[in-house]
Amino acid sequence: MAENLLNSLVTNVIKVSPSMRIIRIKPDEWNFPPFKAGQFVVLGMYGSAVRAPESTDEYNAQEPDKLIKRAYSIASSSTDEYIEFYISIVRSGSLTPRLFNIEIGERVYMSQKPTGMFTLEQVNEDQNVILIATGTGVAPYMSMLRTDALHRKGNIVVVQGASNSWDLGYFSELKLLDSMFKKFTYYPTITEPEKEPAGWSGDTRFIQSIWEDKNFHEKIKFEPKPENTHIFLCGNPNMIHSMKEVLYSQQYKDHTKKEPGQIHAEEF
Ligand SMILES: Cc1cc2nc3c(=O)[nH]c(=O)nc-3n(C[C@H](O)[C@H](O)[C@H](O)COP(=O)(O)OP(=O)(O)OC[C@H]3O[C@@H](n4cnc5c(N)ncnc54)[C@H](O)[C@@H]3O)c2cc1C
Repeated sequence: MAENLLNSLVTNVIKVSPSMRIIRIKPDEWNFPPFKAGQFVVLGMYGSAVRAPESTDEYNAQEPDKLIKRAYSIASSSTDEYIEFYISIVRSGSLTPRLFNIEIGERVYMSQKPTGMFTLEQVNEDQNVILIATGTGVAPYMSMLRTDALHRKGNIVVVQGASNSWDLGYFSELKLLDSMFKKFTYYPTITEPEKEPAGWSGDTRFIQSIWEDKNFHEKIKFEPKPENTHIFLCGNPNMIHSMKEVLYSQQYKDHTKKEPGQIHAEEF
C-alpha cells in the first residue's frame, strides 16, 4: 500500500447543482500558508476511492495506489478557517467523480504551496477590473472579492456565463455584493434559457457578444479601454480564446511578467 498522503479533511460539501459542488477542506495538523487571492492548489485522491454514481466509465483507468492530482483555484479568502473550492464534474474524468462521492470528515490530499500569477497584485489600484468567467472559473474571483478587491479605487465587474441559472454558483452572494457596493457590478448570462422552469429575465448571449454591445458600458457604468481597464478571463478555453481575439482587435495585450499588458488568463 502506498504512503497515505491524504493530509486534509473535508469540512463541508454544498451541492450547488447536479454537476457543481462547493467543497471546503481544512489542513489536518498543518498550517495552510498565506496565499494571494486568485492562486490555486493541487487536490488529490487515490485511485481506490469510489466514483460518484452519476459518473460514467473512466476515460483513463487509474491504479488503486495512485494519487490522482489536479489543480483547483481557491474560492475562499485567506482569513477563512477552511479552503473552499468550486468544482464541476467531468463524468468520464479521473478525480472529479471521486471528489463528488466524498463525505464530510473524509480525507483528501491538498498541496501545501498555493501557486499562480492570476492575481490582482500587478494591477494598479486605480484601474478598473473586469473579471470574466464561465462555469467554475468564477472561483478565483470569489477569493479576490472576499479578500480585498472591493476596496480598490477602480470599478470592478464580474461577468459570469453558464448554461443555466442553477449552474451560476455564488449567484446570491454576487447579487448581494452588487446591491451593496456602488463600484461593483455583477453581470450573469445563461445560454440555455429554454430549460429554465421559472424563466430568466437576464442576458442570454455569449460573453463575446455582450462585450461587443455598447449597452454593456451603460450597465457597468464606465467605458472600458486598455488605458483604464484590466481584463481577467477564467474557465473554458474556447471562451478565453474567443475573448482574446476580440480584445486584441481593441488593442488590449496579454499581461506577462516581462511585458505588462491588460489581459490575464487562466484556462481550466
Ligand atoms: C490552474 C487551474 C485551476 C483550476 N481550477 C479549477 C476549479 O476551480 N474548478 C474546477 O472544476 N476545475 C478546475 N480546474 C480543472 C481541474 O484541474 C481538472 O482538470 C478538472 O477538474 C477535471 O479533472 P478530472 O480528473 O475529473 O478529469 P480528467 O481525467 O483530467 O479528464 C479531463 C480531460 O480528459 C479528457 N477526457 C476525459 N474523458 C474523456 C472522454 N470520454 N473523451 C475524450 N476525452 C476525455 C478531456 O480532455 C477532459 O477535458 C483547474 C485547472 C487549472 C489548470
